[in-house]
Amino acid sequence: MNSNFDLIVVGGGIVGLAAARAMQIRQPNLRIALLEKEVHVAHHQTGNNSGVIHSGIYYKPGSLKAQLCVDGARRMYEFCAENGIAHQRCGKVIVAVSEDELPRLDELHRRAKANNVPGVKKIDTKELKKVEPNAAGIAALWSPNTGIADYRGVCDVLARGLTETGALVRLQTRVTGIEESANDVTVHTTQGSLHAEKLVSCGGLHADDIARMAGIEPDVQIVPFRGEYYFVNPQRRDLVRGLIYPVPNPEFPFLGVHFTITTSGELEAGPNAVLAFAREGYGYTNVNMGELARTLYFPGFQKLAQKWWRVGAYEYYRSLNKAEFVRSLQRLVPSVRGEDIHRGGAGVRAQAVRSDGTLVDDFEFAATARTLHVLNAPSPAATASLSIAEVIASKIEGSERSQ
Ligand SMILES: Cc1cc2nc3c(=O)[nH]c(=O)nc-3n(C[C@H](O)[C@H](O)[C@H](O)COP(=O)(O)OP(=O)(O)OC[C@H]3O[C@@H](n4cnc5c(N)ncnc54)[C@H](O)[C@@H]3O)c2cc1C
Repeated sequence: MNSNFDLIVVGGGIVGLAAARAMQIRQPNLRIALLEKEVHVAHHQTGNNSGVIHSGIYYKPGSLKAQLCVDGARRMYEFCAENGIAHQRCGKVIVAVSEDELPRLDELHRRAKANNVPGVKKIDTKELKKVEPNAAGIAALWSPNTGIADYRGVCDVLARGLTETGALVRLQTRVTGIEESANDVTVHTTQGSLHAEKLVSCGGLHADDIARMAGIEPDVQIVPFRGEYYFVNPQRRDLVRGLIYPVPNPEFPFLGVHFTITTSGELEAGPNAVLAFAREGYGYTNVNMGELARTLYFPGFQKLAQKWWRVGAYEYYRSLNKAEFVRSLQRLVPSVRGEDIHRGGAGVRAQAVRSDGTLVDDFEFAATARTLHVLNAPSPAATASLSIAEVIASKIEGSERSQ
């Protein structure tokens, strides 16, 4: 293996793969290596998410999330269509089920307009019934540009494209250390050491640790929040036509349990948001004492827990109590019953939290002279990945010019 590269990308999730592609398109002669610790790409957040192409409604106007989600959704639809990847522009409704949710629904509508999200409109109960006959709601937002995609399929195509155009995509290669000098970056891995002019880290659940390896002391720590899903039994698949979401609590980055159809034709319900006991803690039995202790002793988490312990306790209660999960779903679709759903998989969100207890809302980066780190890329980063990649590529090229 040639161990000298122009660029090393850490992380074979959708953001790392898209970043490598963007650089390869801009500079076709660049020698790129992408390092992924697992046996296949998209093993973590990307491969275990809801598969939704978000349209950009929720995000603060002017934020990176807002800009890159709207632009990224457009790119993602095009990319899927060009590459024969399963996707569907099925549309989504966000339903308000009580009077007190109406102002928040209106605020989402304002945001959608400010973010230039195509086609979003407020609909009444009669119109809602035409879109989703089984949905409850006294009013709703209809978003025709929201859809679904097979993000694992996207990653497979991205990885194949990289390999075919000469990049090295190296699986089962965990980055264990990074040394930066005036001349290059040395990357130590479980498969030996490599050298490169530049490094980009898109390490998801381990983004903060990889930044530390490169000598950055980030003011954030990744806190892993597991999202658990149920499957709706195939006989009840017709309960929902597209995507049905609740009005979210604006103080949280999570959208509330919802119904989503998948590109393989199933209907899923979830995800909730419980603190995971390991960064890759996909179930209650996945416990990593070291990682759990780091979370519990992290001042940012302690402040978060102090403020939100009731919400956190309720999330555990609902996670362990199917009847309560069903009650949450019945707010959206009253005719769903306990016997209609069975437990599905889970994904773990990498949520960056500041030491003052703030949940980092926007996408966030940190850099040294030769390394760039994506520190916070939670939802909608799968949707936005092809646009986040352009930001990353511009940052790398910008730092090249400044040297
Ligand atoms: C439950 C859930 C639902 C979601 N729903 C949606 C949705 O519907 N739509 C949407 O747009 N977004 C959604 N998201 C968010 C989206 O999935 C993520 O924002 C996105 O996948 C982040 O991609 P990533 O490449 O940054 O991270 P990841 O996909 O986690 O990839 C990071 C990669 O880095 C690798 N890695 C880490 N450390 C090392 C190391 N030391 N050496 C080598 N490799 C390393 C990991 O193995 C991993 O493959 C959801 C997320 C979750 C968890």
